[in-house]
Amino acid sequence: MQKGKIGVTTENIFPVIKKFLYSDHEIFLRELVSNAMDASQKLRTLSSIGEYKGELGDMTVRVSVDKDAGTLTVSDRGIGMTADDVEKYINQIAFSGAEDFLNKYKETAGSIIGHFGLGFYSAFMVAEKVVINSLSYQEGAEPVRWECDGSPEYTMEKGDRTERGTDIVLYIDKDSAEFLDQQRVDVLLRKYCRFLPLPVVSGKEREWKDGKWVDTENDLVINSTGPQWMKKPSELKDEDYLNFYQELYPGEDEPLFWIHLNVDFPFTLTGILYFPKIKNNFDINRNRIQLYCNQVFVTDSVEGVVPEFMQLMQGIIDSPDIPLNVSRSYLQADGAVKKISGYITKKVASRLEELFRADRAEFEKKWDDIRIFMVYGMLTDEKFCDSALKFALLKDTEGRYFTLEEYKTLVESSQTNVDGKVVYLYATDVTAQYNYVKAANDKGYNVLMLDGQLDSHFVGLLERKVENTELVRVDADVVDNLIRKTERKAAGLSPVETAVLSQLFETETKKVEKAKFTVQFEALSPNDQAIVLTQNEYMRRMKEMSAMQPGMSFYGELPDSYAVVVNTEHPLVKSIVSRAAGDLEAEVKPLIGLIDEKNAAADAIRKAGDGKELSAEDQQKVKDLEKEVADARAKQTAVIVAYSGKLPEISQLVDLALLGNGLLRGQNLSDFISRSVELLKVK
Ligand code: ADP
Repeated sequence: MQKGKIGVTTENIFPVIKKFLYSDHEIFLRELVSNAMDASQKLRTLSSIGEYKGELGDMTVRVSVDKDAGTLTVSDRGIGMTADDVEKYINQIAFSGAEDFLNKYKETAGSIIGHFGLGFYSAFMVAEKVVINSLSYQEGAEPVRWECDGSPEYTMEKGDRTERGTDIVLYIDKDSAEFLDQQRVDVLLRKYCRFLPLPVVSGKEREWKDGKWVDTENDLVINSTGPQWMKKPSELKDEDYLNFYQELYPGEDEPLFWIHLNVDFPFTLTGILYFPKIKNNFDINRNRIQLYCNQVFVTDSVEGVVPEFMQLMQGIIDSPDIPLNVSRSYLQADGAVKKISGYITKKVASRLEELFRADRAEFEKKWDDIRIFMVYGMLTDEKFCDSALKFALLKDTEGRYFTLEEYKTLVESSQTNVDGKVVYLYATDVTAQYNYVKAANDKGYNVLMLDGQLDSHFVGLLERKVENTELVRVDADVVDNLIRKTERKAAGLSPVETAVLSQLFETETKKVEKAKFTVQFEALSPNDQAIVLTQNEYMRRMKEMSAMQPGMSFYGELPDSYAVVVNTEHPLVKSIVSRAAGDLEAEVKPLIGLIDEKNAAADAIRKAGDGKELSAEDQQKVKDLEKEVADARAKQTAVIVAYSGKLPEISQLVDLALLGNGLLRGQNLSDFISRSVELLKVK
């Protein structure tokens, strides 16, 4: 028997492995099965090139648990090891590798996902003793038995194994007893080894008999050995892709389309990415792409490897070139990973374009489902955006689809404003904005539907990417002003009329909470509506976008601000103006005169000072004048407010406008109903 010390200088490396190296102890199983798989594949290769002449026979890798003995065994019928091999690969090399590795990644060791190469020793995370029983495939080889109890000392002697291959026997630690539960082992194998190329058996299939589960005669095979992504795209039919999708995500809706990745150079990458039907909340689908390394599952958190927006996709990426032994931030900076990420982006964009070119109708059908992904991608990935601009679609309120180019052609002639900008109108809610959409359509304008979660950002993107355009929501102004074709017409009200009317409308809007109103007069057509509520495009957009930004949410809490646009040419408004101004002129006119006079006097004093500081006396004079103005204003307001009850038409008009925007609620709504019935009463 040979006794020795594993080639390592750090005495206490095992506790390090145990505690720090792997956050997930369970991955020892992945490592051991991977080694078994490698050994088996190597033998198959040797056999295929004629270096191994014996029978391959059954190459199944078996994982079995013996609860009584407290062992978990991974067995393979691969190349096996001679005593020399064990010396070389287990006693020396593997461990110096481990040391280098640990030195290099000391700080990040805690977050390490697991690394192929330290593999075998990860057994000590869960075992107090490990035994290797191996017989090499080489003719005349002697079996070898190696044993190590977790200290750097091991023993190596002639074994009694008679069959080619290797058994790795783990004497499971007390605090890792979960790994002696066959069902738990099944679950782990399904997670990591589901698509390994040779059959992996975990104990026996079980059946329910006499009130309990019992083992049957049949082996329980964990994996499907020919995963679709390893095949050539030309070998696969749509059906195969769909079946594979179901295998990966049982019970999910059919995916919209898929992309088969297959590159050898400058990196190796295979995989199938599926485009799922994205439900309302797109966060749900995140992190569903699974990362494999040579058919061994590594992780399903792929941030860093694929661009963020791609994480809405599902499927498999398999690449031996993604460094798995490093922290996430390092991963993002890694050149190979960047290339892979860029490649995937390009592939996805070109696949989408292909779908668009091949069958426009089909593409349109899928568009609503793809849209959130496209928009997300265009907003976050410049390169993707540039390709996507060619086939991204815009949908109008009638459900018709246009490419950006087509849409510009459609609206250019009718929707160009006095400044020469093409104005795209859009709605975010056709029901709520029905009136505004209709007004725009009646003018012959087209209205786009932009009701997606990211559309307040997308609107800005369109303005940047499509030259000379401006996007305006249909309720941003009265329809004539949305796309101004001529200069604005002045409202033509006298000072008294303006003061009276502003105050009356303003008083009326005060009753709405959590919204701000400013009254605005426009000389529109007599046939246009008497009063319209509008929301300034720029202000609204600022508020919406800020609300989405972390730390800026106070913007989102600000009250919505509306303009109450009163059409001074409307007959009803005209009649209100003449009555109110008539009734109030006697009181209001002198006040306005007073205000103007005092303001002018104050201005004259300021001007005379010629920019220099005023004398104490002048300052006092200005102060007094300002006070007089404020008093007159207050009086004017009081007079008009006192009068406001006399014109129920104003309340009615304002309420109708509020109603049209879903802003009339509670007591205000109830008042409106009573007043309406009152107005309908038989006279
Ligand atoms: P890696 O697999 O990354 O090389 P490991 O520490 O897991 O690192 O294994 C070290 C070496 O031990 C392997 O490269 C292989 O030569 C040998 N080995 C491990 N397990 C087996 C096995 N089941 N059959 C044959 N050789 C094995």
